[in-house]
Amino acid sequence: MRIVRACAMGMCPGVRNALKRVLSIEHPEQVTIFGDLVHNEVVLAELERRGFRRISEAEREGAVPTTRDVLITAHGISDRDRRRLEVAGKRVIDTTCPLVRRIHVAARALSERGHLVVMIGRPGHVEVNGVVGDLDRCEVVPDPGAVRNYREERLGVICQSTVRPEHARRILARVRRLNPGSEVRVVDTICRPTRLRQQAMESLLDLVQAVVVIGGRHSNNTRQLVHRVEARGLPAYHVQSAADLDPSWFRGLETVGVTAGTSTLDRTIDEVCSDMSLASSSSVRAGCPGRQSRPWSSVAAT
Ligand code: SF4
Repeated sequence: MRIVRACAMGMCPGVRNALKRVLSIEHPEQVTIFGDLVHNEVVLAELERRGFRRISEAEREGAVPTTRDVLITAHGISDRDRRRLEVAGKRVIDTTCPLVRRIHVAARALSERGHLVVMIGRPGHVEVNGVVGDLDRCEVVPDPGAVRNYREERLGVICQSTVRPEHARRILARVRRLNPGSEVRVVDTICRPTRLRQQAMESLLDLVQAVVVIGGRHSNNTRQLVHRVEARGLPAYHVQSAADLDPSWFRGLETVGVTAGTSTLDRTIDEVCSDMSLASSSSVRAGCPGRQSRPWSSVAAT
């Protein structure tokens, strides 16, 4: 069996930098992580073991941690929430991804120029909540069916960083169709690492008979990868670690792809690839090439 690794996959720079910052903190017991740093249970358990406190995404609305320091995750928070924490005397350690910050800036600029902000993304997602939390008026649109006529002169369309460009294009077309009298301004806020991962995924799907998708059970972008594989009519096997692999999945297959969500550790990807090699009929493994940032796929024969 040949294992094909998507060339762009796994932890994105935003999450990677946030994790690096967190691991450099000397007194974890004095810090509360405000939300899930990554949607990866292995990493979350490790942070807990080091002594970090955590307020889950579901609990953080209006919450004030008891520790002096509060760490904002790569997904960001609204300025209103940040001020609330500062007024409560908390020291904010900010690991918001610069690409998420860019979305906040775009939303604010559009709003200040009189546009109704229409954000393409998942309502309730922590990144989306952070952006729209500073706006007095906005619409969050997860799919074309949710678009309506907004009866506004000016609309400003932005995206959650991880939305698939194709999906965003469909929604944008509907916004234009249902609002023919409105000026529609679009700021493309889909992040480049996400785009590269999605392009790599498309290339991968042309080469394989099934795909193993590695990522946390609650990781939104991992689930999107799974859906994408299934939409192309291929079996998708969602695993959190090598322990979840079932050798029977690969019986009779010649080529299997591997990709991973943005919360997945390099170590986990390597372990899964390694165990898949062992599960394959061939005992020779040429090895997976290193991960690259180019949006095309590379092939490793085993
Ligand atoms: S997915 Fe993109 S925007 Fe979000 S944290 Fe990663 S690099 Fe930043």
